[in-house]
This record gives sequence, C-alpha cells and structure tokens, in this order.
Amino acid sequence: MATFGNLTDRLAETFKSLRGKGKLTPADVDGTVREIRRALLDADVALEVVKEFTGKVRERALGDEVSKALNPAQQVVQIVNDELIAILGGEARRIQFAKTAPTIIMLAGLQGAGKTTLAGKLAKWLAADNHTPLLVAADLQRPNAVTQLQVVAEQAGVAVYAPEPGNTSGEDAAPSRGFFGGPKGGDPVKVAKDAVKFARDKQYDIVIVDTAGRLGVDAELMKQASDIRRAIDPDEVFFVIDAMIGQDAVATAKAFQEGVDFTAVVLTKLDGDARGGAALSVASVTGRPIIFASTGEGLGDFEPFYPDRMASRILD
Ligand code: GDP
Repeated sequence: MATFGNLTDRLAETFKSLRGKGKLTPADVDGTVREIRRALLDADVALEVVKEFTGKVRERALGDEVSKALNPAQQVVQIVNDELIAILGGEARRIQFAKTAPTIIMLAGLQGAGKTTLAGKLAKWLAADNHTPLLVAADLQRPNAVTQLQVVAEQAGVAVYAPEPGNTSGEDAAPSRGFFGGPKGGDPVKVAKDAVKFARDKQYDIVIVDTAGRLGVDAELMKQASDIRRAIDPDEVFFVIDAMIGQDAVATAKAFQEGVDFTAVVLTKLDGDARGGAALSVASVTGRPIIFASTGEGLGDFEPFYPDRMASRILD
C-alpha cells in the first residue's frame, strides 16, 4: 500500500536530525513537532486533528516520562507511534457478531466510496470462514446498483436478496441461482426488513445490507439510511470512506455519524496514491475504529485493518 508515503519520509528525516543527541530540549521537540505537523498536513490529515495530535506528542515528549532504555529520538518515535495507534483504534477491531444469528451488518457512505464492492469482499471473506452471508440490495436509488450487487454476489459465490428487475407481480420471486427477489419497487426500508426475515427463516448467519449513497451528503440520504438502521437494528454499521477523499473526510464522517451513526469505519482505495490522512482524520474526529482496508477493485483486495501495522508503516 502506498499510503502515508510522504509522511513516512518526512518523519524519517525529522528523526534523523534527532539521532545522536543526548538529551531532548524544548527546541528539539518544537522542531520535531513542526515537522510532524507539516508532514501530517501534507498527508491531508485535517487541521483540527493535526493540532490535537501534535499537542499530545509535544506534551508527552516534554513530560516527565523519561525512559532509560531509549535515546531521545527513539523516545519521540515511540510517542508518535503510540499516539498514532491510539487514534487509529488501538487493537485490531473484529466484527461483533450477534449472539443469535443472523448478524446484521449495514454499509453506509457516499456514492462511489466502494460500498457495493465491499459488500462482495466482505461476503467472500466471511464465506471462506464458514459463514453463510446474504447480500441485500437496499440501494434502489442508483439504476444499476441492484444488478451490480448481483454481479458481485455471483463473483463471491454468495446469495443476494434483491428486488428482481423482471418481477412486477408484487409477489416474491422464486429463488434462482441464489438470487432471491422481493417485489420490484421502491422501498429500501421494506427490502432490508424483508431480507432480514428471509435470512432468519433460511438460516443465513450474516446479512450485509448495501444502502444508497449520494455524491454529497444530503438530508434525504441520511434519513433513508437512518430509517433502515432503525428498521433492522444492525449489529454493525460500517461507514465506508474513500481514502482519497482528503480534507473532505472530516465533514463527511461527522455528517454520517450524526445522521446514521456507525460502529466502525472501512477505508477503501488504499491502493491509490492517497496519503492516508483520511484514516487519521476519520478515526480521530469520530472516535470510531477502522475495521477493514480495501486495497483494490478485485474481491480479494481486502484485509482487516491493523492500527499498529499502519502506524509502523507511517514511521518506517
Ligand atoms: P458504491 O457507490 O459506494 O457502492 O461504490 P462501488 O462499490 O460501486 O465502487 C465505486 C468504484 O470504486 C468502482 O469502480 C470500484 O471498482 C472501485 N473501488 C472500490 N473499492 C476500491 C478499492 O479499494 N480500490 C480501488 N482502486 N478501487 C475500488
């Protein structure tokens, strides 16, 4: 992954200049903090997050926690590393499964963030772990969305519950090729609710609900997502966000947290040349952990998000 490349280089330079010094002076710390600040801003981390982060690093670096085992440069690296891990969620976050199946996972985010692709990735990953996921097409906004989810489900080899485009009878369609059609028509809340009932009846143990996104945050989108959330009471709501979104990350994340609320974040397109500032910004302003990283268009380009690994990459 090519994230944080610039940040990594900058921090490396910073720490190089500290190396060999016997003692850390306030001037050293300030110089270092200035570099960290610049590097984070370059990496598109939001200003408010940068300020908070560097404030903590400075305070700790000048504080009385002196370590005999580390030289001052190592100590600052350690502090930056600890703080990065803390912001990124501490321990790797795992899916919180329901005590009684099915576990319901809802996906929310802007259009193009990578929700539908993620639904397939997640389903494939869970199926490989002996789960029986059911994908649900509750994005009835985008003309193509239902078909796209069906394609993704077929690639992942999992079932999908979707309003069948050819079915105008008002009756549920018969299952075919693992596709289960509800009646065609407009109510995503009903589709989501019916799908959960269907999953329960047919003993799918995980339900992954794809919801509609817009190009920008809007009230109608939020209301719909929040209505779906209320109707199906999911165990997890994953906010899916494109790592390339840069400085818009904070406003978008805050809007989704207020409008729908979410339990964890999935960062997509980490294979691109995004600096990765979105990861820090979103985790920091929402207090929600990042749970998965999406790293390409293929269904296999997906992995759990490990805060410590991301932090070491930053400091590499
Ligand atoms: P949705 O509107 O949120 O459902 O987004 P889609 O799942 O349709 O994804 C939008 C576009 O981004 C598609 O062309 C995907 O192939 C692409 N995409 C999704 N995830 C990734 C990723 O991790 N890396 C890259 N490079 N492309 C991705």
